[in-house]
Amino acid sequence: MSSKNNLLPPSSATSPSGASIPSPRSLRVRLTLYYGTLVAAALIFFAALVWGLTTSVLYESATSSIRAEARVAMAEVKRELLPAPPHWPAQLSLHTLNTYQEPGIVVEVIDAQGNTRYDSDRDPTTRIPLNADTIQTILSGQFQQYQSVVAGETILVEAVPINFPSSNSPAIGMLLVAKPLGEMNLALSQLRTQLLIIGAITLLCTLIGGWAIAARALQPLAEMATTARNIALTTAQGTRIGNLSQRVKRSGRDDEMAQVVDAFNEMLSNLEKATQGQRRFVADASHELRAPLTTIQGNLAFLQKHEDDLPAEERNSMLHDAYAETLRLTQLVEELLLLARADANVDATFMDQEKTTETAARPIELDRLTLQLVRQFRGRLSAEQSSLKLEIGHIEPVRVPGNEEHLRQIIFILLDNALKYTPPRAETEDGRVVISVEQEDNQAVLQVCDTGVGIDPAELPHIFERFYRTDRARSRQGTGLGLAIAKTLAEQAGGHITVESTPGHGSTFNVWLPLA
Ligand code: ADP
Repeated sequence: MSSKNNLLPPSSATSPSGASIPSPRSLRVRLTLYYGTLVAAALIFFAALVWGLTTSVLYESATSSIRAEARVAMAEVKRELLPAPPHWPAQLSLHTLNTYQEPGIVVEVIDAQGNTRYDSDRDPTTRIPLNADTIQTILSGQFQQYQSVVAGETILVEAVPINFPSSNSPAIGMLLVAKPLGEMNLALSQLRTQLLIIGAITLLCTLIGGWAIAARALQPLAEMATTARNIALTTAQGTRIGNLSQRVKRSGRDDEMAQVVDAFNEMLSNLEKATQGQRRFVADASHELRAPLTTIQGNLAFLQKHEDDLPAEERNSMLHDAYAETLRLTQLVEELLLLARADANVDATFMDQEKTTETAARPIELDRLTLQLVRQFRGRLSAEQSSLKLEIGHIEPVRVPGNEEHLRQIIFILLDNALKYTPPRAETEDGRVVISVEQEDNQAVLQVCDTGVGIDPAELPHIFERFYRTDRARSRQGTGLGLAIAKTLAEQAGGHITVESTPGHGSTFNVWLPLA
């Protein structure tokens, strides 16, 4: 099955009855979206982390650089101030500051009256913004740090009070150091763009990858759906079963999906075997039913045509044959019915439903049941004046669970076969059938042993198949259903049947049943 037919479009997903089947695409989409959402969340988290850390590092660096600048400037200012009030010289030069000043940093010195005593950029039109509240706070002796916007650019300002002549003296002015944050903001905005682009590409790759992975992971499911749909489409409205020989290709891996595929394929092959068995059974049953019907029909047609000119003896013989065939037909139909009931796991006996349910609950005395049947068969043998011996070997009290009529049927079939396939007088001794009931390995064992014709080893594995008859058995009456019925009933009772046989010497059938 090619991967091309993996996911059918929703429009084509219809069942044979015309009802729409949910599209497998939705699961694929959902898996991809779950995957994408998880990755997107992780990306957002990491982008936020990178953004936050970078912002804080850059801000810290800007703050520490203006603090350093403010310290140098303050030392310079204090060196140039005069000891006598009002302490301000006519001109502040701050030479050292000019030498070491970081590019872009602006320093202003303003006295308590608001006069600018020093301006590093010497441009009277641009002033570091300062509001009345800030002035108040600084002159009261506290330092301030704030951001402001000058000519469209954000600046970071450090405002420090100038306490002179000692650090405990009241502030006689203030020192303002400003640093433009344009570069920092530019770097941050570039970082933001890069994070967005990388995030979007990663998310896109993840979605494409997720889509491909989901398709690959779900392919066996899609193939199973296609196979099941093909079978459903080729199954005609309950009359014909579609092609069950199809199988879903198994991937080399041994994962959960492979197990699902294995289970699906196993189910298909079991269904195929069961269907083939049913077909064979129906064909065999029809064949078996046709043979006696043909004889009956032929004999009756002949009799009807030659009713007057046939001698009485021949007429009687033809009627007798037709009657014998009706008996065979009846037996065949009865056994078919029994088998069908056993298959359907319902009461398969001659007793009515209620009685059987009662007996099914009670443990059954296998020894008693066996003795009953032995008596019955001995009666038959003596009525037929047969020299065959039906003997009891070892019998001990054994109780088994199950349905008494089913067990009776199993013993009946085995004894009937043993007597049927054992000639009354063998070359060396008289024909003998021995039955015994005992416990072995915590199980009940019913054994039927005969000195009959035996079964060829090549035929032994087939004797429990429906309608199978060995070549040696052809001369005797039979349908080939007895052992199939016995096997099904024994399995229903939780047991099984084994057989050993030597051609020309006899066979031994053992029925193993759980103890009650
Ligand atoms: P049938 O109606 O032919 O007896 P069964 O299903 O009971 O059908 O048995 C299937 C075949 O197994 C028989 O046809 C016969 O060839 C062989 N078989 C069964 N029991 C014995 C036995 N005790 N000895 C020899 N062959 C047996």
